[in-house]
Amino acid sequence: MITVETPLTLVSDDDLLEIGRLIESKFPRGRYHHSLYHQLVFYKKAIRLYNEGLTWYEVSKELGIRESATYHWLVLGRKPWSTYKIPPATFDFGYLLGSGIGDGTMSANGKKLLYKWIKDEDFADKIVESARNLNVYAYKWYRERGWFVIISNVVISELVWIGKTNPYLLLPIISNMKVGRGVLSGWFDAEGSPAISGLSEYKYCVPCAASTNKELIEVMGKLLDMLNIHYTINKQETKEIRDPRTRKVYKPKSEKLYRLRIRRCCVIKFNEVISFRISRKKVVLEKIIQQSGFKNVCQ
Ligand SMILES: [Zn+2]
Repeated sequence: MITVETPLTLVSDDDLLEIGRLIESKFPRGRYHHSLYHQLVFYKKAIRLYNEGLTWYEVSKELGIRESATYHWLVLGRKPWSTYKIPPATFDFGYLLGSGIGDGTMSANGKKLLYKWIKDEDFADKIVESARNLNVYAYKWYRERGWFVIISNVVISELVWIGKTNPYLLLPIISNMKVGRGVLSGWFDAEGSPAISGLSEYKYCVPCAASTNKELIEVMGKLLDMLNIHYTINKQETKEIRDPRTRKVYKPKSEKLYRLRIRRCCVIKFNEVISFRISRKKVVLEKIIQQSGFKNVCQ
């Protein structure tokens, strides 16, 4: 009897197929190449049929997949994810997803995740550190006015793309305390700020983050729900920006901007559970907590 044990078991077959379909249409890799997510669904079905008494040959006919695949899985005991290096469900895995969704871009073939023009060197360091904790290749360098980081892992890169385009599909993979904390921490480092800029006093500030992607903001809210951290989401209209030097008018990409704010009752808890790993942001958050003297604090 072979049992199925996959790091992506929390994801339903329907969601795996949907992720696979999106990945395969965005990053085509040859006609006969199924993405990992697609293969996982085949693998689970193959195991079930094999346990019911079919031979590996019959399983391949039944599912319409190559004989070599069912032979490798059912006779040799290989697993479809053995070539992919699926990261374990840890904080570091989440940190790469969250920071990547905020600041990363994918290489054209979807196999690498690239961060460009990062302002803070310690942010680049944290990304590299998280990747190395997962035994994933990562490298940082400096060019002109910012740091660059490249991470070489197909699954991380593909899932970051899913997170940017279809955040709700990512939810079953990241709804786990460790991964969820990592996602929020990485995303707040990339997109968040400890206070709205321009305020000279920290007294009334709370950590917040904004995006034009409504679903992404909602998914981050779901992760905060899981950690029992209170927040609000507001919608605001974006304005045209006029460059005072060139007098050119810039239109925002989207009319609406969604802003997620941590409620005052949970700022201390946010600092304990998530916080920022970029020291520039972390220092400001600690000042806010000192100056605000929050009352009615949630435990
Ligand atoms: Zn609260």
